[in-house]
Amino acid sequence: MSNPSLLILPGDGIGPEVMAEVRKIIDWFGAKRGVTFDVSEDLVGGCAYDKHGTPLHDDTMAKAQEVDAVLLGAVGGPKYDNLDFSVKPERGLLRLRKEMDLYANLRPAQCFDALADFSSLKKDVVAGLDIMIVRELTSGVYFGEPRGIFKEGNERVGINTQRYTESEIERVARSAFELARRRGNKVCSMEKANVMESGVLWREVVQKIHDTEYPDVELSHMYADAGAMQLTRWPKQFDVIVTDNLFGDLLSDLAAMLTGSLGMLPSASLGAPMANGRPKALYEPVHGSAPDIAGQGKANPIACILSFAMALRYSFDMGDEATRVEKAVEKVLADGVRTADLMGPEGGVPVSTSEMGDKILAALDASL
Ligand code: NAD
Repeated sequence: MSNPSLLILPGDGIGPEVMAEVRKIIDWFGAKRGVTFDVSEDLVGGCAYDKHGTPLHDDTMAKAQEVDAVLLGAVGGPKYDNLDFSVKPERGLLRLRKEMDLYANLRPAQCFDALADFSSLKKDVVAGLDIMIVRELTSGVYFGEPRGIFKEGNERVGINTQRYTESEIERVARSAFELARRRGNKVCSMEKANVMESGVLWREVVQKIHDTEYPDVELSHMYADAGAMQLTRWPKQFDVIVTDNLFGDLLSDLAAMLTGSLGMLPSASLGAPMANGRPKALYEPVHGSAPDIAGQGKANPIACILSFAMALRYSFDMGDEATRVEKAVEKVLADGVRTADLMGPEGGVPVSTSEMGDKILAALDASL
């Protein structure tokens, strides 16, 4: 059998710095676990524009379609702020998401006990939190037609259209139920069926997919506004939340911030299953290229390392190895190792990006 294949796109700013720490972990798997990945590396974002005049070369796009998974660092930076919209670094990322048809965006909100004080909520509300928001990513009000600003009589009217087909709802519902089976076996679907027809259809279709294909998974429905309240009141009641593009945008940011620093948040975007049965997939930290700290060895590599752990779990069927990486991160944090973004008011000496990577490697060694 061929090795699992991975395309690495470090990107701009701190992207290459945090990705270097992931490379160490990939090498560790080869040396210590006998798991060798076929890794290729390429350009995306501003660095691709500098070399090719486009933020994503066609050859890179073709490679992304072929591999088992893509792991991206971050794109963008002030140097590229005045470029034409069509070649801005972010367009490279948007092209990847669009052409790979990545319709399910997974945003975990996991609170490591050692960082529970970082949350704006009380410690007992967030300690041990582990939920997953599945946001529909390729349809809904951000894409529906008609859209635009039109003239109506004497004034202008701004229009966007919330639109979902049954098949779009079905496929993201399946992603959520599949995930739930690997986790706490519970899905809560959120919409506004009380005031939106698209919400009525969403609720009906999610219920149908549940009843016909996933009756073993516990399903509940909640209005999205009530969901926002419940997420701040008692987030641990949830396991997997599935919701549309707009509500998912808001709810996933809310849930992510329950856990503290941007430097800790991984994500995955999944598409349809490929010939090998695994979904097309792009993994990336939630943070951007952080130009304010780029090149200074201050970036926290954990979000990117946890994104790789998600790849192990969802693209390579290596759930135990993913847990091994997550436990290593947990151990290092419990030992008080902190990059600058994780320093509390009590102060201390932060470690550098590469020192954090080395500590995680040492914890991985200790796990054997
Ligand atoms: P950002 O996420 O890059 O940074 C926000 C703040 O968080 C900064 O103070 C930064 O230093 C800090 N931060 C972010 N990641 C960190 C890490 N791993 N460790 C420690 N601190 C970290 O967001 P921004 O400043 O709004 O955007 C900067 C650039 O990144 C822009 O060009 C933007 O378009 C781009 N961006 C890219 C992505 C992406 O590639 N997916 C996402 C968001 C922003």
